Amino acid sequence: MPRDLPKAYDPAAIEDRWAAYWVEEALFDQPHAPASTSAPVFTMLLPPPNVTGRLHMGHMLEHTEMDILTRWRRMCGDLTLWIPGTDHAGIATQLMVERQLAEEHKTRQQLGREAFIERVWQWKQHYGDAILDQMRRLGTSVDWSRAYFTMDGPRSTAVREAFVRLYEQGLIYRGAYIVNWCPRCQTAISDLEVIHEEQQGKLWEIRYPIVGEPGFVTVATTRPETMLGDVAVAVNPDDERYAALQGKMLQLPLTGREIPVLTDSWVSRDFGTGAVKITPAHDPNDFALGQRHGLPSISVLDETAHMNAAAGAYAGLDRHQARQRILADLEAQNLLAGVRDHVNSIGKCDRCKTVVEPLLSTQWFIRIQPLADTAIAAVEQGYIRFKPDQYAKTYFEWMRNIHDWCISRQLWWGHRIPAWHCAQCGKITVARSTPEACAHCGSSRIEQEKDVLDTWFSSGLLPCSSLGWPERTPDLDAFYPTRLLVTGFDILFFWVARMIMLGCHFMLEEPLADGSKRSLEQAVPFREVYIHALVRDADRQKMSKTKGNVIDPIQIVERFGTDAVRFTLAAMAAPGTDIAFSEERTDGYRAFANKIWNAARFIFMQMERAAEAGIVIDLSPPLPVGGHQDDGHVPLESIWIISRLFGTAGEVNQALSEYRFHEAANTLYSFFWGDFCDWYLEIVKLRLDFTGPAAPAHAALATLVGVFERALCLLSPFMPFLCEEIWHALYENHPPRRSIALTAYPQNRDGVCIEFAEDQMKRLQELIAAVRDMRRQLGVEEKASVPILLRVAPNDRAGIEQNKDIVGRLARVSSIEFVDGMPEGTSVRSAPGFDVAILYQRTIDAAVECERLKRELARLEKEVSNADRQLSNEGFLAKAPENVVEGLRRRATELSVLIPKTRAALDSLNCGS
Ligand SMILES: [Zn+2]
Ligand SMILES: [Zn+2]
Repeated sequence: MPRDLPKAYDPAAIEDRWAAYWVEEALFDQPHAPASTSAPVFTMLLPPPNVTGRLHMGHMLEHTEMDILTRWRRMCGDLTLWIPGTDHAGIATQLMVERQLAEEHKTRQQLGREAFIERVWQWKQHYGDAILDQMRRLGTSVDWSRAYFTMDGPRSTAVREAFVRLYEQGLIYRGAYIVNWCPRCQTAISDLEVIHEEQQGKLWEIRYPIVGEPGFVTVATTRPETMLGDVAVAVNPDDERYAALQGKMLQLPLTGREIPVLTDSWVSRDFGTGAVKITPAHDPNDFALGQRHGLPSISVLDETAHMNAAAGAYAGLDRHQARQRILADLEAQNLLAGVRDHVNSIGKCDRCKTVVEPLLSTQWFIRIQPLADTAIAAVEQGYIRFKPDQYAKTYFEWMRNIHDWCISRQLWWGHRIPAWHCAQCGKITVARSTPEACAHCGSSRIEQEKDVLDTWFSSGLLPCSSLGWPERTPDLDAFYPTRLLVTGFDILFFWVARMIMLGCHFMLEEPLADGSKRSLEQAVPFREVYIHALVRDADRQKMSKTKGNVIDPIQIVERFGTDAVRFTLAAMAAPGTDIAFSEERTDGYRAFANKIWNAARFIFMQMERAAEAGIVIDLSPPLPVGGHQDDGHVPLESIWIISRLFGTAGEVNQALSEYRFHEAANTLYSFFWGDFCDWYLEIVKLRLDFTGPAAPAHAALATLVGVFERALCLLSPFMPFLCEEIWHALYENHPPRRSIALTAYPQNRDGVCIEFAEDQMKRLQELIAAVRDMRRQLGVEEKASVPILLRVAPNDRAGIEQNKDIVGRLARVSSIEFVDGMPEGTSVRSAPGFDVAILYQRTIDAAVECERLKRELARLEKEVSNADRQLSNEGFLAKAPENVVEGLRRRATELSVLIPKTRAALDSLNCGS
């Protein structure tokens, strides 16, 4: 049966099939942790997409990079485990379902908590796994048997365990605190979830009468409605203007309350009038100042941003109406001293864009400092490394200025806090399983806390909980710490830092399999964090719905094929630079896939022809590595392509180990397109004569197939579908083979770079290029074969003589005459190693040729002066990679030969000046 690949490469026709095959065969599952393994372990956690999600280009890049690394490590012999899952994404998901309800003119309050949560679960069933289906289609080589959801049974157990332990350790407390409150979402949100925007606002100056004497203190404020909650006015202790007022009382307008003037060095003398109103319940800085001075907090706004009873006459108004009324009343009493334009920064809810309100409320917190100290140490001591490494600096900056983590959210969707309030004694019982009675007084009148946990609390536990923690599982012994985390910069703090803090904290308490104590190095959740780039559009603009430049990965995959899109992302993923995704490039890589497809068809055709002549080659034979120079049986191109193959393998392995995806992809591209297709395939056609003696044709075919098979293996992590299809066609499934993904990744073996073959081939390539170029210049008909004159160093003659059939075929040369000097008046091409002339009856146009040579000379002279300048620049020499400097030196030597040759050619034509 022939190896029939359809004539045209059609990704749509092959990709669905292999995507389904990989999942059905459970090829990438690691269902049982091995008791022991000598192989390195490569474990990775897939950043769980939100159940609200749809795959976007950022995911596509992230998943492509992770899949390349996993497939590569798997083929290198590592025990690989890549764990997928999805995140319940508290606030984001709740918002989606609330929007859905709004379309039915319902609210979650109308539904009630239980029915609403039921509704979210239904929503999750329906939409939640869509993104996982997309990942399956894209061939993501994860262990599907381990897919988790952050609110499933085992993950819920882990969350409760973590909460209870932290509580018992005194690291969780409940406190009144000023939080960012979203009046729409009706929940506290973390600092990271507030987006700050500059806004043109006003600064109002209000007069506060001094008690018992005439006169005022004028304060400046951007939020006059909060003045009803003022408890003091503060000035800088060094501010001469207010020295006499210290310790005096002021009358708070509109309320009749009296408040003190106090001093605090936090107050800036330059802001407004230098006297500021202090409202601890509605401003985080004022809250901190109030704590320092033991001031009370008076809330005047409720959770819906309406004025409450403490606001007296203004109770019931919303914050905007209240502002207008208060300003009008102050004006009427002649207490409004002035108003100015003022640019201020306002915070908005990241989810719903409502202006957030700093609000005093009772929340749950993690006392973060002890956890942060350990997490800082883990990175300082090198147990976790960031790539690119500048992110370590960002991490330290944040961790060293960290505030206690407010972990409670007033949402319904999420892990409900495992704490029960007692109606009898008022105390709190925190427990792993739902208690029957209050732990303090035994009363059964207990009610569970209504708040849920910040969604990052559960995802912060994932490196442990996805492997079964808090159970002491064999998985935890085998696969923890994970090897690598690949993620985006935007969740460095939300997620990465939390995983480091929680992972180190809980795993330090977990003994190793042999019962011994775990070190910090063994407790970290991952060894390395690779922060990937952003995908932008072709004009380097950020993709956004409003700009309408969002590229949908599924659509682009349907147009060009997954392999071409993956390859584009990899080829453009230079560390530290964003990707300007271009469809043109993708189209180019689709052509690349097509080129490989055609190469496969050509090779299969040769195998068929050989079989008809009774030659059957052994598939996957050992390659004749390191052929000897004097071994006349192995043709140059065979030794050369093997040398190139393993050289490429070396470069690709090296590049991947440093996350230089672009280098790996570009190396593979130039190997396949240039070395393999453009050169080797053309030359090898000379040997595939199955009508002549069998041995040389057999050997050539065996090398061709062997090199191609290994090259496919090299490429397969990047283009898994194409390579799987061709590889199965090559073996015709006989004997049964499961997947190219389970073969060994080619490695560079020492000494396989066969220098003489690479040098000789380079010489031949230069000669062929020179002859081709001359033919074009001279207008030689494409089909015509021409004789050439060649002057080379005596040592090089034999090499060219032996391979004259290659020159003959690739440059259409009928014969080569070796000469010591070129006849007067011939047009000559010069390279460092040779001079060549074509014997062609058309006489050359001397004037045109003179012009060409002059241009050539000018170009060479410019190049030599550039090279000289760089090579005499100490700074450049110190900074440039060694191979670049080496390359420049070599080129400078070549130029020192070429320039005199070109001058001589000019002289021989008597061009004049
Ligand atoms: Zn909101
Ligand atoms: Zn009680």
